Order: sequence, then C-alpha cells, then structure tokens
Amino acid sequence: TLTVGVLALQGGFYEHINLLRKASRQLGPRGQDTKLIEVRNSTELSTCDALVIPGGESTTMALVAAQSGLLEPLRKFVKVDKKPVWGTCAGLILLAEAANDTKKGGQELVGGLAVRVHRNHFGRQVESFITDLSLPFLASSPGQNGSGTPAPYSGVFIRAPIVEALLTSEGSPDSPERSPVEIMGVLPGRRTKATAASTTAPDTKPGEVPKDLGDVIAVRQDNVFGTSFHPELTDDTRIHVWWLDQVVERVGGQWR
Ligand code: GLN
Repeated sequence: TLTVGVLALQGGFYEHINLLRKASRQLGPRGQDTKLIEVRNSTELSTCDALVIPGGESTTMALVAAQSGLLEPLRKFVKVDKKPVWGTCAGLILLAEAANDTKKGGQELVGGLAVRVHRNHFGRQVESFITDLSLPFLASSPGQNGSGTPAPYSGVFIRAPIVEALLTSEGSPDSPERSPVEIMGVLPGRRTKATAASTTAPDTKPGEVPKDLGDVIAVRQDNVFGTSFHPELTDDTRIHVWWLDQVVERVGGQWR
C-alpha cells in the first residue's frame, strides 16, 4: 500500500483528498493500492510515503504545525527522508527556504525548495483570478499519450505567491547533493514578455529568475514540487494524476 497524506491543519485539504482519490482511480491498477489520509500529527505523518501541503494561510499553518509538534517531523520528511511532497499556494510558501512579505519579521518555514517566494504577489483577495496556464510537463501525464501541447490548465490564484528567486542549495548538511530548481510553469506576460515555452533555466545564475520569463508559478527540486495556484479547486485531475503517477513510480526507490 502507498500512503499519501494531506496535511490537514488548515486550508484546502479536503479538496486535495477528493482529487487524489479521483486521480488514483484514473491511474487504474497502478493507483488502486493508494491510501489517502489526513495528517494532523507526527504519528500520522510517519505512516506516509508522500505528502501534499494544501493552500490556505501559511502563517496559520506554520503556527498550528509548531503547536502540533509537526515542524521538525515535516522538515525531516522533506529534507532527510526526501519523500515526495507537493505544496500548493500556502503549501508552496511553507516548502520554500525563504519567503518575503512576511509580517512581524517572518514565519517558520519547512523548506526543501531552494527558492525565495514572494507572498501575496498579486495583491489582496479581491485581486484573485483564474487564468489559462500552459503547463508543458502535463504532456507526460498518464492519459495524455505524450503527444502535442497539453490543453490549457485553469489556474486558480488566490492571494498567491510566486517564486521570485532561485537560491543556491549548497551548504546544507541535510542535503549535500541536490539538483537545481526546475521551473515547471510560468505565468507569461505579467512581468515582461512571454517565453512560456522555456521550462528550464539552465543559464540562470543562482539568485535570479530570468527577467524575460514571466512569473514563476510552478517549480520542482528533486522530491519537492510546488505550485502557486490551486489545482484542488478545479475538477481537472491532470496535475494530481501526474504527481501521483511519479509517486507510485518512485516510492521505494531513490527519487533521483
Ligand atoms: N497568501 C496566503 C499565504 O500567505 C496563501 C494563499 C493561499 O494559499 N490561497 O499563506
């Protein structure tokens, strides 16, 4: 059995469980042995092979995690055990090594992604929006037949963060060897001109997101995946299917 947990301290955990359930059915025999659980304490976390951290409010989530004795277990899960973890919106913030725009001098983060996020990048709740995203990685999602450009994905942005800087990830005793952060999705045309076709940034110097790329809204580094938007608030299961498929594939082996 593969146990996939969804951190259920606050935010959109129920919606993630729903979509993961649909995704596991869509994976057919590969997904049938998947058990989905809500995670509220370290005992529950310790039974998980993979974890989703939902959207919500990252400061609140971090506070509740600290009160529940979950911060250190979460850090170990992500950085030492290197189990697959996906954070959406507030979840992405928690998985970042650094966040700005934190009130009262900052908040606790779990870390795992060598990036700095800019919280509430697009402004307040009223500035929330839904926009079609081109996510090239979905072409390799099961059921896409690997061909052509995937259909647009409806991105729900609610007080969303963006990834504003890539950090060097050297020097961490927990993770001596890490792959570079991969840019998996951008929102073109917000910052400058669109180059949505480029999904990796090999020439990017540490600390910089290429200026002409647009806003970075999806990243991956080894076992850690993060999206600025809320796939759990759509009924499009493609990202859940894509992520779960890799979890099924890699669990039990080395992530990379
Ligand atoms: N702005 C929120 C935060 O800082 C995230 C919003 C969300 O998850 N929808 O945590």
